[in-house]
Amino acid sequence: MNTNDLLTTLGLNPELLSGGDLPVHSPIDGALVASLHQHTPDQARAMIGSAHEAFLAWRNVPAPRRGELVRLLGEELREHKQALGRLVSVEAGKITAEGEGEVQEMIDICDFAVGLSRQLYGLTIASERPGHRMMETWHPLGVVGVISAFNFPVAVWSWNAALALVCGDSVVWKPSEKTPLTALACQALFERALARFGDAPDGLLHVLIGGRDTGEALVNDERVALVSATGSTRMGREVGPRVAQRFGRCLLELGGNNAIIVAPSADLDMAARGILFGAVGTAGQRCTSTRRIIVHRSVAEALLDKLRQAYASARVGNPLDAGTLVGPLVDRAAYDAMQSALAQARAQGGTVTGGERQLAEQYPDAWYVSPALVEMPAQTEIVCHETFAPILYVMRYEDFDEALRMQNAVPQGLSSAIFTTDLREAERFTSAAGSDCGIANVNIGTSGAEIGGAFGGEKETGGGRESGSDSWKAYMRRATNTINYSRELPLAQGIKFGDD
Ligand code: NAD
Repeated sequence: MNTNDLLTTLGLNPELLSGGDLPVHSPIDGALVASLHQHTPDQARAMIGSAHEAFLAWRNVPAPRRGELVRLLGEELREHKQALGRLVSVEAGKITAEGEGEVQEMIDICDFAVGLSRQLYGLTIASERPGHRMMETWHPLGVVGVISAFNFPVAVWSWNAALALVCGDSVVWKPSEKTPLTALACQALFERALARFGDAPDGLLHVLIGGRDTGEALVNDERVALVSATGSTRMGREVGPRVAQRFGRCLLELGGNNAIIVAPSADLDMAARGILFGAVGTAGQRCTSTRRIIVHRSVAEALLDKLRQAYASARVGNPLDAGTLVGPLVDRAAYDAMQSALAQARAQGGTVTGGERQLAEQYPDAWYVSPALVEMPAQTEIVCHETFAPILYVMRYEDFDEALRMQNAVPQGLSSAIFTTDLREAERFTSAAGSDCGIANVNIGTSGAEIGGAFGGEKETGGGRESGSDSWKAYMRRATNTINYSRELPLAQGIKFGDD
C-alpha cells in the first residue's frame, strides 16, 4: 500500500495534505510525503475556545457514557491497527512490529480507560464532628493540552486523551512537527468513533499543526487547565515555568538516561537480550532506551562478548522490511548529534565499536547507522547526557554500592533495571535507597513499559506520571465536601466562637 492509499484508508484526503509550509519527510528514504498548513496563533486560540465550550457540556455527561466514546475509539484502532502502525513506520521510521506495537498500546489504554470510567471514585473520610460526613469527589478539570514528541507519535496522545476523555475533559493536541500525519489520522479515527457515539459536543478534540510557536499557544492560554508535555528536557525547561506562572497544571515527560546494572549472578543470556532490545530498538530513540550498562568486572568480558555478537547480527535497514531490527534515525540532526557524542566519548577515553553511517548509497537522504557500543573507563560528562541515538556506554563496577551510585549519578531519572538472581541486590535496587528512577525493573530491560502502571520519571525527566495506576487524578480536580446533617454547627478543632 503506498502512502496515499494508507492515508485514504485512515480517513484522510491526501490532496488536502499538500501546498503548505510544513514539509513532512519520511525518515525511511527522506522522501517528502506531505506539506501541511500550519495553524496561526489566532486559529490556535479559536480551537482552545471551542475545546473549552465542549468541556462545559462534556463534563455533565456521566462518566460511564464518556467511556463508551473511548470504547468506540478503541474499536476503530483495532480495525485500523495495521494501517496506522504502518503510517507510524513511514513517518517516524519505526520497524513494522514497533509501529503496530504502538497502536496496540493505544488499544490497551482505551480498554483501561473504559474500565476506569466506572471507577473514578473518591474516599469517605471520618469527620471529627458529630452528625457530619466528609468525602472527596473528583470532577472534570477542563481543556487538556497535549504536546507530544516524534518518537511516540500516537501512543503518548492516547495515554493522555483516553484518560482525559473519560475524566470529562476536552483535548487540544500539538503533535511533533515531524509527525503530524499520524496525528491527523488519529483525529480522523476519533471522528469516526464520534459519529457512531452520536451526541457528543463539537470540539472535544482539536489537532494543532505546527512547531514550537504553535505549542506555545497551549502553554500560555489560561483556558488550558493541564498541559501534558512530552519531549526533551530543553522543552520542559521552557514549558514548565510558563505554565506555573499562570498557575496551570503541568505534567512533564522528558528525557531519560537509563541504565542497567548487570550483577555477577545475572543470567547473562537474558541480560544480553534485554539490553539489545533496550539499546537498539527504535534505533535508540525511545525515552526509555538503554543508554548505560554498569556491569560487574567479573562478568564484563562475558557480557561484552554476547553483546558484540548480538550487535553484529542486528540488521539495520528499511523498517518496512521483515527482518530489520534497526531502522533509521529521524533526521540528519539526529545523525550529527550521534557523531558529536561519539567524538566526545572518544575524547573522554571511550573505545567505540560501530556508529557508522549505513545504506548511504541506497538512501542518500536518510540516516541509517550501525548501533554503537562504547566502553568507557568511567561515567564521564558525555555519558551523563541523553543522546537520542543508539549509543550504549558500558562501564564496570567493583561493589554494589558503587553500581547504585553510578546508576543514580545522572541528571535524568526515568527508567532503570538490574539483572541479578541475588534477592538482596534486587530488593535493595527497588528500595528507598535504591534506584531513584520512576521505573525500576528486575530482570527485564528499561524499555517497553505496560500501560497498567504509572509511567514517568524524576529529576530532569520532569516528575509527571501518565497512563495507568492512579495517573487519572492529574486529569481531574478534587473537591473535599463536608456535609452537616445535624441541627448543631460545631466547629472543627473544637473551637468555640461567640456565644457557644
Ligand atoms: P522536542 O523537545 O524537540 O519536541 C517535543 C514537542 O515539544 C514537539 O511537539 C515540539 O514542537 C514541542 N515544543 C518544543 N519546544 C516547545 C516550546 N517552547 N513550547 C511548546 N512546545 C514546544 O523532543 P523530540 O525530539 O520530539 O523528542 C525526543 C525527546 O523526547 C527525548 O528527549 C525523549 O527522551 C523525550 N521523550 C520523553 C518521553 C517520556 O515519556 N518521558 C517520551 C517520548 C520522548
